Amino acid sequence: MNFDSNKYNLLVVGAGLFGAVVAYRAVKRGMRVLVIDRRNHTGGNCYCENIDGINVHRYGAHIFHTSERRVWEFVTSLAEFRPYTHSPLANYKGRIYPLPFNLNTFEALWGVATAEEAQAKIEEQRLKLEREPRNLEEQALSMVGRDIYTTLIEGYTEKQWGRPCRELPAWIIRRLPLRFERNNNYFNDTYQGMPVGGYNPLIERLLEGCEVCLGCDFFDHREELEAASDRTIYTGEIDRFYDYRFGALEYRSLRFEDERLAQGDFQGASVVNYTDAESPFTRIIEHKHFEGAKTSHTIITREYSCEWQPGREAYYPINNERNATLYARYKALADAEPRTLFGGRLAEYRYYDMHQVVSRALDIEL
Ligand code: FAD
Ligand code: UDP
Repeated sequence: MNFDSNKYNLLVVGAGLFGAVVAYRAVKRGMRVLVIDRRNHTGGNCYCENIDGINVHRYGAHIFHTSERRVWEFVTSLAEFRPYTHSPLANYKGRIYPLPFNLNTFEALWGVATAEEAQAKIEEQRLKLEREPRNLEEQALSMVGRDIYTTLIEGYTEKQWGRPCRELPAWIIRRLPLRFERNNNYFNDTYQGMPVGGYNPLIERLLEGCEVCLGCDFFDHREELEAASDRTIYTGEIDRFYDYRFGALEYRSLRFEDERLAQGDFQGASVVNYTDAESPFTRIIEHKHFEGAKTSHTIITREYSCEWQPGREAYYPINNERNATLYARYKALADAEPRTLFGGRLAEYRYYDMHQVVSRALDIEL
């Protein structure tokens, strides 16, 4: 790989959503921008692969939702979005429960028909704490009680994170709505939708006017790349940037197994979570339901969660105390970098959703 010195105003390491939004803004300001990615495609974890008319969400189900109007206006000004309401299901030992936790879930679980009955049931089994919950187990038990915890939370969470619920931060479960009305919308946000044709058209729009170099790992060409650009936006793992000098941060990785089935429909929903401890995968995605693809076949993906190790993709930061302390040490170094700005899920070591990444990328000063 050959990069001319001083050719670019900005080098963006990582063609995921964060990098792409920053690159778009920089090009709009007349900057010359080089975007690199170690993968052989752009879009980071939002990337979709069209397989026989179905947009397969290559790195897991991605639903765009936000309550921030400027974020929604920004993405919808660049790509067409269709209304989409995410309503995943849970499969616990063969029985189906609607998600998120709402009156439909409580009815499936206990046969109750009113909010009052459901509230009474939860109140009866809720963990009553005199202090703030200290971990995910306490948070879940105090919020929804033992039955929901056992049926819909414990097995799923421990598979997903590879750790007991007692060792996980409480806020992870607070991402999920708890409602006493009949409403299976997984998100509380004002805006929600699915880009027509998957996320690739959005990413392509964002990267218009940039030079893009794929299959290019920053650390294999660091000297040339830095000589070729004035500044860097780095969206990879922050601990790797510093050669793991204080030790490695922990991440969860994922493994995806596709299956093509010669039938029109497999599970009638885009996502079914397998919430028991025994099923080895966490969820099954049926991609055609994101956009209502009319095909005689279907493609499903089983998602397995595993610990990150070198050579695997890092997907989820594990924001427990140990990692927070370690991250703070790396962040102190990052804050003092004269020419490099760190952003996105891996570089900020934050469990960001897409809208948060877009919002952050719209805010950074170029
Ligand atoms: P990434 O998408 O990870 O992009 C970073 C890019 O940098 C990658 O392409 C990587 O290859 C590249 N890179 C890293 N290091 C280097 C290097 N050294 N050299 C070159 N390139 C490098 N969000 C939602 O809003 N809704 C959802 O439904 C949703 N579902 C999700 C499901 C799963 C399974 C996962 C894992 C995430 C989900 N998210 C969802 C979160 C969403 O994926 C992220 O918020 C978003 O993609 C983060 O963008 P990013 O640019 O920070 O990171
Ligand atoms: N969760 C759960 N049961 C479910 C779905 C989610 O216990 O059926 C918990 C689990 O701990 C998970 C967290 O809620 O990590 C957040 O779920 P979300 O669907 O937001 O996770 P993501 O899609 O980001 O993996």
